Amino acid sequence: MCKQFIISSTANILFSPVEYLKGVGPLRGDLLKKELGIFTFKDLLEYYPFRHIDKTKIDKIGSLGPDIEYAQVAGRLTHVELIGEKRSKRLVAYLQDDTGELELVWFQGISWAEKLLTIGHHYLVFGKLGFFMGKVQISHPDIELYSDDKSDGKKFLEPIYSSTEKLKARGLTGRAFARLSFALLQQLSANDLPENLPNAIIKKYRFIARWDAFCSIHFPATEQMYTHAVRRLKFEELYFAQIRLGLIRSTRQRFSKGWEFNKVGDLFNTFYNSYLPFELTNAQKRVLKEIRKDTRTGKQMNRLLQGDVGSGKTIVALLSMLIAADNIRQSDGEGFQSVLMAPTEILARQHYNTITALVKDMPVCVKLLTGSSVNKQRKEILKACEDGSLTILIGTHAVIEEKVIFKNLGFAVIDEQHKFGVAQRARLWNKNTLPPHILVMTATPIPRTLALTAYGDLDYSVIDELPPGRQPIDTVHRFENKRPMVMDFIKAEIKKGRQVYIVYPLIEESAKMDYENLMKGFEEVKSFFPEPKYWISMVHGRQPAIQKDTNMQRFVNGDTQIMVSTTVIEVGVNVPNASIMVIESAEKFGLSQLHQLRGRVGRGSEKSFCILLTGNKISNDARERLKILCATNDGFKVAEKDLEIRGPGDIEGTKQSGLLNFKLANIVNDRIMLDAAKNAASHIIDTDPDLLLAENLPIKNFLQVQKDKTVWSKIS
Ligand code: ADP
Ligand code: MG
Repeated sequence: MCKQFIISSTANILFSPVEYLKGVGPLRGDLLKKELGIFTFKDLLEYYPFRHIDKTKIDKIGSLGPDIEYAQVAGRLTHVELIGEKRSKRLVAYLQDDTGELELVWFQGISWAEKLLTIGHHYLVFGKLGFFMGKVQISHPDIELYSDDKSDGKKFLEPIYSSTEKLKARGLTGRAFARLSFALLQQLSANDLPENLPNAIIKKYRFIARWDAFCSIHFPATEQMYTHAVRRLKFEELYFAQIRLGLIRSTRQRFSKGWEFNKVGDLFNTFYNSYLPFELTNAQKRVLKEIRKDTRTGKQMNRLLQGDVGSGKTIVALLSMLIAADNIRQSDGEGFQSVLMAPTEILARQHYNTITALVKDMPVCVKLLTGSSVNKQRKEILKACEDGSLTILIGTHAVIEEKVIFKNLGFAVIDEQHKFGVAQRARLWNKNTLPPHILVMTATPIPRTLALTAYGDLDYSVIDELPPGRQPIDTVHRFENKRPMVMDFIKAEIKKGRQVYIVYPLIEESAKMDYENLMKGFEEVKSFFPEPKYWISMVHGRQPAIQKDTNMQRFVNGDTQIMVSTTVIEVGVNVPNASIMVIESAEKFGLSQLHQLRGRVGRGSEKSFCILLTGNKISNDARERLKILCATNDGFKVAEKDLEIRGPGDIEGTKQSGLLNFKLANIVNDRIMLDAAKNAASHIIDTDPDLLLAENLPIKNFLQVQKDKTVWSKIS
């Protein structure tokens, strides 16, 4: 985490370490870093309150009902007690005003709270209301001694920040946090936050000054001022994200030199005419043309290829790599090498198997390099890379290690983009005189506008068509009480010769529990499907690579009919005979992930099914998600919905990009503003990409100060 924030060497007060601020110090400073990622003054300045409360508006306890979400009450503390033991231990305090009694509850930070509370004193309390056994309560409230000297009748909008238990225990409650931002704003002045938008934009949108915006977002004089502040700062976020991406793209398009692939030769033609096992879909042909066009311009290609699961991206990658091999580097007369990088060992191996089978009768040398390649093999592979005898290297992260030196790398494919960051992409091109062309493939469809925002530095292609003859997958949601019927259904399908996946969720935070669930699940599956009539493979992240591989291979070969696994099989695995996907605890998965998993079936000619199993009681949200999945097979539609439901921050494939994790803006709700920012940014990029015009100086200066450090370190 520390590495992410490199403090600028320029003596800019905004980049001062947060512990230097009055009221912070080393202890709290440490916590702010660990708990909230606040390292510098700037981070704190951009740590915005999630709401403001009018300090003079105090609710009566008697008037609190389930329709009120947050409340502020003032009252006398009558009684404090410790209830329960060990994990259920909690501190309960009772606050009374002249209309009723409110319970305040602490599950954590109990000793800290105890010290804070004195029976008989008056307190001002703020928090989210809960109703428990007919009583109103606030757990972990924001609490301070009550004094009514502030209430001179004037409205006073007090900022409330989200805090954490550990920070609260150091006195930094959501409310006390305001003292820090106040101290910070006192230390800063308008000069520290110079204007960063061109005048024309400020005029056009009537934005308030930058300094005013920062003051008002924390301590607004009126609600209207707050709205103005948010509007301006949101725009800034969106605008600069677009400017940064636009500049990267424009710089690349103007200056990046790349290998010129000026022909399609024997390898491509022979493969296309004699070994391609099917006719390409129109979408595949179109994308291939786009890649052809890019790679012969003498500039480096950087292309994002999106295509739903099973849309046939691999073959496009292979054909592109053959074009690379068909093109000869003048200086040494050898065809260009390619590399294909996959996020997991299983997937790398699968690609390797597919591709070696396809080109087995052609003079193409393909090798597999992963973390578990043994030394002798590894040496041979490295040698083949270096002397140029290797045509295509397939592998995991291992392929971007220092030791891998290509003689003439011309083309790099990164499968399943979201597992690789920008920095890893960049590492590929330090290895050569010119950078290779880059094709980034992702199976997590994201809506086009979102893709362009998230990956604005890349050009964009899409395969929006599935190969012919695919039968749509029937997706159903079944509750736990239907499990026996589901199992009978599976037996019937296995009898017909089909294979089945049963997938258990793996959530990192509770990995141990999930692992136990998986084992329990495995035992249960075994009891439903006893040997020797049925054979089961199990694959999960804790297995050594070899074991994972053997188990996977047994399933691929058809030696086992059932594959019990965690989400390690999520990406890319291809077993056409598998026609049933059972997803356990489906309510725990996000939509895109469910869609990804579903994509493992429906790859052969047989009718396929996806069964989403859940507990008998699930939340409405989860029910909604599962309904969407049952209604459509189209990954792009699923993605649109996912975006609506969860917002962009959580969409798979964008998390890593960091560029969508705006502090204020939300690209779904703020679409109109996003468009405005995008247009304004592309205007600048088109007319003044080097930011030479005087009117664009504010932008240039701003980028200079930021040095893009935060952005770049966050995405890499
Ligand atoms: P993904 O886009 O998910 O990576 P794959 O490249 O693994 O998809 O392709 C899925 C399956 O579809 C593979 O078995 C592949 O051989 C097959 N396939 C790809 N393109 C076509 C096509 N044009 N016609 C028929 N089958 C195809
Ligand atoms: Mg794939």
